[in-house]
Amino acid sequence: MRKGSLFVVSAPAGCGKDTILNELFKRTDKAGYAVSATTRAPREGEVNGVHYHFLTREEFERKIAKKEVLEYTEYCGNYYGTLSKSVNDLLEQGKDAVLKIEVEGAMNIKKAFPKACLVFILPPSWEALEKRLRDRGTETEDKIVERTNQARREVEFAANYDYLIVNDDLSEAVDDLLAVFRAERLRRVRNDELLKRFK
Ligand code: 5GP
Repeated sequence: MRKGSLFVVSAPAGCGKDTILNELFKRTDKAGYAVSATTRAPREGEVNGVHYHFLTREEFERKIAKKEVLEYTEYCGNYYGTLSKSVNDLLEQGKDAVLKIEVEGAMNIKKAFPKACLVFILPPSWEALEKRLRDRGTETEDKIVERTNQARREVEFAANYDYLIVNDDLSEAVDDLLAVFRAERLRRVRNDELLKRFK
């Protein structure tokens, strides 16, 4: 059976990456979400094992020591990390594994797995991003400035990604991401097995 590939999707807060990925998984069963581990508290509606594996700091550190995390980072005071098991389970089912991680984690994945495909989702403009953060109505003005500054730092890393997708229209952005997945699956470097059949 064909083994899946690694995909990384990153975007600053407010760019709609969760919505895009939810739509993507409705439209394809060739890719699955590699559930990360985190020490942050669950938000309303988040389910352990589905959105994240919610761990204590001790549990997380034990996993690091046992080399059960492919990469991890500390973001806003909490650990976040990709579990090797989450990724391997998907790859062994022949599915592509999608990692929804921040920029430094993405760079570490690329270093460790040069064939990983990195996708960065951009807002249509800085103004549009600020408007989206404001329209959520959940953030104070200080928080909006902080998130916008964080977004500017994150977008600097976009130059190291393989694909850029602008989330102006949701359904178009999902189409774009599906197109990236499809094209990547067809790359010769991911299909050497196929060529062997024709020897
Ligand atoms: P949130 O707390 O909003 O769910 O996530 C905060 C940030 O951590 C997001 O940018 C998210 O993509 C990133 N993140 C989630 N899981 C991981 C992970 O396993 N590794 C890394 N490096 N970042 C992650």
